[in-house]
Amino acid sequence: MMLSGWGRYPAIECRLERLRRNEDLWDLAASHDTLIARGNGRSYGDAALNPDLTLSMLAMDRMLAFDAATGLLTCEAGVLLADIIRTFVPRGWFPPVVPGTKFVTVGGMIAADAHGKNHHRDGTFGAHVASLTLATADGGVRECSRTDDAGLFRATLGGMGLTGVILRASFRLVPIETAFVMAETLPAHDLDEAMALLDASGDWPYSVAWIDCLARGAALGRGLVMRGRFLERAALAATGATHPLAPPARVHWFKVPVDAPSMLLNRASIGLANALYYRRGRMGATARSMHFDRFFFPLDGVEAWNRLYGRRGFVQYQCVLPLAESASGMAALLERVSTVGQGSFLAVLKLFGAAGEGLLSFPMKGYTLALDFPMRSGTPALFGALDAITHAHGGRVYLAKDACCTPERVREGYPGHAAFELVRTTTPGGRGRFDSMLSRRLAL
Ligand SMILES: Cc1cc2nc3c(=O)[nH]c(=O)nc-3n(C[C@H](O)[C@H](O)[C@H](O)COP(=O)(O)OP(=O)(O)OC[C@H]3O[C@@H](n4cnc5c(N)ncnc54)[C@H](O)[C@@H]3O)c2cc1C
Repeated sequence: MMLSGWGRYPAIECRLERLRRNEDLWDLAASHDTLIARGNGRSYGDAALNPDLTLSMLAMDRMLAFDAATGLLTCEAGVLLADIIRTFVPRGWFPPVVPGTKFVTVGGMIAADAHGKNHHRDGTFGAHVASLTLATADGGVRECSRTDDAGLFRATLGGMGLTGVILRASFRLVPIETAFVMAETLPAHDLDEAMALLDASGDWPYSVAWIDCLARGAALGRGLVMRGRFLERAALAATGATHPLAPPARVHWFKVPVDAPSMLLNRASIGLANALYYRRGRMGATARSMHFDRFFFPLDGVEAWNRLYGRRGFVQYQCVLPLAESASGMAALLERVSTVGQGSFLAVLKLFGAAGEGLLSFPMKGYTLALDFPMRSGTPALFGALDAITHAHGGRVYLAKDACCTPERVREGYPGHAAFELVRTTTPGGRGRFDSMLSRRLAL
C-alpha cells in the first residue's frame, strides 16, 4: 500500500504487515531482505517507510505492569501515548515527556528520543526509560538498559528503528495533583526578546515560543512565549474546577475533510494568519489555567490537519544550534525564510537543556526552531539553503522530521554517528537488516 509519514511526503509503495505477537516477527520478515518498525506514522518524512517490509507495531498495545510506588510503567512498544494519558491521568500520573501530539507510540518516542516543552529541565523521553526489550537482526531478543548492553541501549534511544524492533519498554511516569496547567503567554517583539524570555523561563517546567516567521526587519522573530506548570490541588480549587484529574473531554473537535487547495497557501494568506495570531495572543497575554490537553496538544483537536497543506504534502525543517551560535544562526534562518516568503503557519522556538545519552539523539544545549512548509518545487532548494546555515553554525536537523537532508550534513551534525555505526556493525546480524527510506537516503 502507499504509505507516508505525517507530512505525506514522500509517499512510497510499501509492504505493510502488522506484528501481533513477538514470536511472529521473524516469520513475517523471513522472505524480506530488510524491514523497519512503524509506530503511528507521526514522524514527518520517510523514517517509518520501507518498501520491502514496514512492520506496524500498533497491535502490540498492551500495558503490562505498573508500580504505583515508583511510577514505573512497562508496556508494549505499540501503546499510544494517548492511551497512557487516558489511563493514568485519572490516577494522578503523567508521562515524563510528551511531544506536540499524543498520537505517537512508545516505540516511536524511544526511536526518535522525543523531546517536549520540558527538555530544559527533564531531558528527552529516553532519559526516563529504565530498560527496553529489542529484537535484533540475528533473531535474538536483548534486554537493554544503562547497565546491560548499554551501547545498544544508547544507540536505540534516537536510533530511528535502525538497531532493531523495540518490543517493550519500562519508563517512569511522574505524579500530578491535577490535570490542569497554569499557563502564561508573553509577547516577544523580536527574536532577541523571544530568546531572552525562554532563557528567563528556566524555573518553569514547560516553555516554548511560537514565532511569526514572516515578520521582517525590526520585528524579525516576534512571537508569543508560552510557559506553564501543573496546578496543585489547592490552587485548582480556587479556580472552581470540580474534576481535578479529568481526562481530555474528546479526541477531536474538528476534522479537515479534504486536501486544501495549494493556492490558498501563499505569502499573503500565511502572513495574515501569522499576524492575526500574534496580535490576538499579544492582546490576550495573561496567566490562566487550562486543561493539559489544550496546553500540550493544541493541534490534536483537529483531525487530519496535515491536509491543510494540500495534496502534495508538507515538510518540516527542525534544527538545533549550539547556544553560542543560536542568536546569529536563528536570525539567519528566519531572514532566509521571510525573504523567500515561503512561510509556515507553525514556527516553534524552544530552548533545549544539555544533550542526552542517545548516540543519534537530536537535542543539544541551544535553541531549536521548527518550521512547516508546503511541498513545492522550490522547497528542496530552500531546505538546502537552511541546511547550509545550520551547518555553518554547528547545528543539526531532527531525523524524525526530515525528508530532505543529505548524508554529509547528518554525519557532520551528529558526532555520535561513528559510535552508532560501530554498535550497528558489531550487533549480531549486522548492519543493514533494519533499513528505511530515511536510512537509505542518509546512508545510515
Ligand atoms: C503534530 C506533531 C508534533 C510533534 N511534536 C514533537 C515534539 O514536540 N518533539 C518531538 O521530539 N517530536 C515531535 N513530533 C515527532 C514525533 O514525536 C516522532 O516522530 C515520533 O517518533 C512519532 O512516533 P510514531 O509512533 O508515530 O512513530 P513513527 O513515525 O511510526 O516512526 C518513527 C521512527 O520510530 C521508529 N519506530 C517506531 N516504532 C518502533 C519500534 N517499536 N521499534 C523500533 N523503532 C520504532 C520508526 O522506524 C521510525 O524510525 C511531532 C509529530 C507531530 C505529527
